[in-house]
Amino acid sequence: MRLVMLGPPGAGKGTQAQRLVQKYGLLHLSTGEILRAAVASGTPAGLNAKAAMERGELVPDEVVVAIVAERIAQPDAERGFVLDGFPRTVPQAQALDRILGERGVKLNAVIELKVDEGILVKRIETRVTQMTARGERLRSDDNAEVLKGRLAAYRELTAPLVDYYAASGLLRSVDGMAPIDAVTAAINRILRSVGKAKPARRKARAGKVLKAPQPRSDAGPSARKGTNLGSN
Ligand code: AMP
Repeated sequence: MRLVMLGPPGAGKGTQAQRLVQKYGLLHLSTGEILRAAVASGTPAGLNAKAAMERGELVPDEVVVAIVAERIAQPDAERGFVLDGFPRTVPQAQALDRILGERGVKLNAVIELKVDEGILVKRIETRVTQMTARGERLRSDDNAEVLKGRLAAYRELTAPLVDYYAASGLLRSVDGMAPIDAVTAAINRILRSVGKAKPARRKARAGKVLKAPQPRSDAGPSARKGTNLGSN
């Protein structure tokens, strides 16, 4: 199964991608994570990406396309993958089609997490305040101003992918404002309907664990909804 998670920063893409990884044994391919690791280890791609990432801007298409092409060519991607944070522009989506076409495979579905941006910004501001008060470490792009820039980049450059994938019949939209478990359930229903969702045997138990009861209502908004800054 080859999937794309689509949605603005803070929508819960990373959280849901992790659950798909556990349930279906897919490879989680987050360009944001790969880039952060590249920045931390000072590779040429990392040095190229650092300034844009800190400003909340997109890294050049050719940098991320090269990263994804290389990763998808590795043997562990053959069992399927979930792309989280890629593609983010129409040229990236076209490059992905080319990369997959060269390998004789296609995407099975693009899952869009639909969220209310205004509520998202408020939640993230609250979360950053809470994390700062607790003395927790924030990502260098975790602040409301940078987030607004990232949302603007999403609207301008990434949102057109909704039409791109609707036109190819791959788009499936989910209410990303619902509780995390409800979003997961909706995604699983979609995957059953695209007829490819076969839970990985070894991982099936991990999938069950995830059907835990809903977080208590006093667990805070970020526990109930997909607003984990670190994994989106
Ligand atoms: P993320 O963790 O997906 O929110 O990504 C963090 C940052 O990495 C983004 O704000 C961009 O600067 C950069 N980035 C990640 N994925 C891409 C991509 N597909 N295209 C361009 N920049 C990206």
